[in-house]
Amino acid sequence: QSQALSVYANQPAVTRDGHQIEVVANIGTTLESRSSLAEGAEGIGLFRTEFLFMNATSMPTEEEQFAAYREVAENLQGHPVVIRTLDIGGDKELPYLELPKELNPFLGYRAIRLCLDRPEILLTQLRAILRASVHGQLKVMFPMISNLQEWRQAKALWLQAQEQLRAEGVAFADGIEVGMMVEIPSAALLADQFAKEVDFFSIGTNDLVQYTVAVDRMNEKVADLYDYFHPAVLRLIQMVIEAGHREGKWTGMCGGMAGDPQATPLLLGLGLDEWSMDAGSIAKIKHAVHGLHRADCVALAQRLLTLGTAPEIRTELQTYLQQPE
Ligand code: PEP
Ligand code: MG
Repeated sequence: QSQALSVYANQPAVTRDGHQIEVVANIGTTLESRSSLAEGAEGIGLFRTEFLFMNATSMPTEEEQFAAYREVAENLQGHPVVIRTLDIGGDKELPYLELPKELNPFLGYRAIRLCLDRPEILLTQLRAILRASVHGQLKVMFPMISNLQEWRQAKALWLQAQEQLRAEGVAFADGIEVGMMVEIPSAALLADQFAKEVDFFSIGTNDLVQYTVAVDRMNEKVADLYDYFHPAVLRLIQMVIEAGHREGKWTGMCGGMAGDPQATPLLLGLGLDEWSMDAGSIAKIKHAVHGLHRADCVALAQRLLTLGTAPEIRTELQTYLQQPE
């Protein structure tokens, strides 16, 4: 990374007309949380907790999970940390769970589906998160929500974990935000209804694209079809942000699109509040934000939403980004 770019890493991301956005990091281990603040992250927008489960020979205990969540909370020194509950299954296996082989693992027994089927797994994780919440600013989000019943069941387990701890006299923070990932088209289409019940949304474009255009995110043969600038994906993103805002809920993005500076004017124009990405992308996204004018981006986004193909949208964005200031 060039020095010129890295000066932006530790500055707030403010547009030329004074609009500030939040730039946070995706992490997949406790180790990564040690350098997040120095790398310019204003918090953690996605803590993938799978590593705790994958680097183990049996289910991690509540104690082990508590230690990990506490470490991340402490390393972030009061900045927000969004912990995503277990997203196993799909391509990620756990030897000790003996999951059956599936024909379509990405459409199968995965993430919140598995956790609601084995609620003791989720309850243990939620208890650990709650216990760690007194050591920093934690938020929790559920992956792969496809309908309101799943959301309500997950939320009920969250309340159950709180009741248990209260009965045991164990402390936890008040008012912890609980949100969901929007990474399945059915959830995006119902965002207005979800928005009444969640505290926030985080759009997971990696899966949202895969499920919207029916393209396996790992399959090289069809990689050309996998594109977050597909107009249908843009419409879903717009729906989610607007539905969230109508209910006064913030909306973030933690999929790969958030770390692409070419997408920044579009996402800014659509009103995205929080960008979560690999730490290595933070400086370049903050730099991109500094060069943009929010009001212009709003008009640009409206224009892009009328275009019919991803290449047209990309070309228009490139032209916009190349124009002299
Ligand atoms: C996503 O789907 O965009 C996402 C951030 O989650 P993951 O990549 O872990 O599936
Ligand atoms: Mg995902």
